[in-house]
Amino acid sequence: MTVGLRKFKILITYYGWIALFIGLSTTALISYYIYSKNLYEDKLRFEYEADQVWSRIQYRMDQYEGALIQARAFFLSSDAVSRSEFHQYFERTKLLERFPGVQGLGLTVKIKAKDLAAHIANVRKEIPYYNVWPETVEKEYFSILYLEPMDWRNKRALGYNMYSEPIRHEAMKAAMDTGKPVLSGMVTLIQENDHRLQPGLNLYVPLYQVGAPLQTTEERRNALTGFIYGPFRTDDLFSAILKESKPVLDVEIFDGDKPKPENLLYDYDGTPQFLNPKAPHNLRLIKKLRLYGRDFTLHFTPLPAFKTNSGLIYSLLSALIGFIITILIYRVFMLTKKTQETLQGAINARDEFFSIASHELKTPLTSLKLQSQLIKRTLGKDPEGNKADKVYVLADQTERQTQRLERLVDDMLDISRIRTGRLTIVKEHLNLCDLVKDVVNRMKEQFSNIPGGTPAISFIECEQARGHWDRMRIEQVVTNLLSNAIKYGNEKEIFVEVQATSDKVYLKVKDLGFGIPSEFKRKIFDRFERAGMPTKQISGLGLGLYISEQIVRSHGGKIWVESELGRGSTFTVELPLHPS
Ligand code: ADP
Repeated sequence: MTVGLRKFKILITYYGWIALFIGLSTTALISYYIYSKNLYEDKLRFEYEADQVWSRIQYRMDQYEGALIQARAFFLSSDAVSRSEFHQYFERTKLLERFPGVQGLGLTVKIKAKDLAAHIANVRKEIPYYNVWPETVEKEYFSILYLEPMDWRNKRALGYNMYSEPIRHEAMKAAMDTGKPVLSGMVTLIQENDHRLQPGLNLYVPLYQVGAPLQTTEERRNALTGFIYGPFRTDDLFSAILKESKPVLDVEIFDGDKPKPENLLYDYDGTPQFLNPKAPHNLRLIKKLRLYGRDFTLHFTPLPAFKTNSGLIYSLLSALIGFIITILIYRVFMLTKKTQETLQGAINARDEFFSIASHELKTPLTSLKLQSQLIKRTLGKDPEGNKADKVYVLADQTERQTQRLERLVDDMLDISRIRTGRLTIVKEHLNLCDLVKDVVNRMKEQFSNIPGGTPAISFIECEQARGHWDRMRIEQVVTNLLSNAIKYGNEKEIFVEVQATSDKVYLKVKDLGFGIPSEFKRKIFDRFERAGMPTKQISGLGLGLYISEQIVRSHGGKIWVESELGRGSTFTVELPLHPS
């Protein structure tokens, strides 16, 4: 295996691992991003839904309060509102239909202890079973005088002295003192019967004597005549508020500013989630709601209708896709590595074949060459006439063809040596001028077609043109350049120049022939590359310049060409005089 291939394999494996690492970590990051983004979106959606529930409760309670304020206005607009007028008002305002969940609308009146007996006697004229209960130690009684609708449930509450019960008392007092609507804490409504007991709330709107001053707490206390109030059963109330909106969250509503099991007013799905450790951790929200002087705590958890698992699916999907893509990319790297190995195998086989074939060809060629030389020599000695001349010419042609074949085989051999790194350089001290002179002399016969029959040679600073080079290989380069100058020189003059400087020597071979198109100037130094017309019509394999460049490079030198199409080419070889 060549060094290049080994390097390539290491590199491709290295890049393969990098691709694998980058691919997997990117996949992990993207999947995590999608997962957390979805979690975050779920959370936002969850919070949004919770907000919706929160504001719906707030909105509906405001509407109830509005209804009570409206009822108070009705009372204030007349001196005395009779039971039947109140009944009619209630019927006309369609309170129950408009505000589902409200238990009713009531009036509770303040009665001084001294007036109690007269009050009861007076009301009994209308309602014989009327009584005010329970008794209280305070000087004042509050009695539910009107309560609509007058169904069996509400009838039970008539005459109830709400002020005697501490939770209601607190709310009533706050409403009286501030003049504002106040909601009571969690109570059990008097209307409740024993089965299906629901927690209840009362909303109080204070009713003051018309025209009385109401600036101070004291003034308000004195002016108070009673309350308009709305009793709510929390299950009915909150179900009515929530169910119409088809909630996707479960909400648990607690009385007070902390969620305590004993303060649970309402639970949408009837299964307490608060304190349930199985509820999804990130989707849990506690919100405070302040309504008419009272704090409530809302605890939200998602219902099955709130779809949350899409994020996990998407991130798993992206992980899977990312994983597959990464593995595919990695496989491509490994396949490239394998293909390269296969290719290299094929190249090696070809080089091997080249080497064997050239060696095999070389042996019969050498003997052929020797034989034709022998024939020539034998015939040359023979003094006899014409016949011999003809055979001599034939033998001479055979020798030339054999020499051509030999050069070709030599080139092929060199190529396989270069490919396999076996091109050896055996250096000796020599003078380039002398070497060039020898080569030109040896090629004398081949110059017969150029004007003057020999190249014009100029040597500059020849004394210095000494270096440490491989004679045979440098001769090969010079021969190749001169042969090309003959082949492609269009039978015009050829110029050879050797010029030494202090550290380099330059060999220039110039012809006035076809020249080389500029796009080929670099290419012709590659294997099997030949420039376009008309030089393509002249036989050759396109190996000479490639081999020459390899030789020059292995001497630490350079080779290049300057050329103008139709004007000729100048090849220059630069060799260092003192190669390191
Ligand atoms: P070959 O001569 O066998 O084709 P070379 O490697 O020696 O191979 O040359 C490669 C190509 O470069 C030639 O085919 C020819 O097109 C171009 N070339 C080489 N020398 C010259 C030159 N002196 N003038 C014009 N073209 C040349």
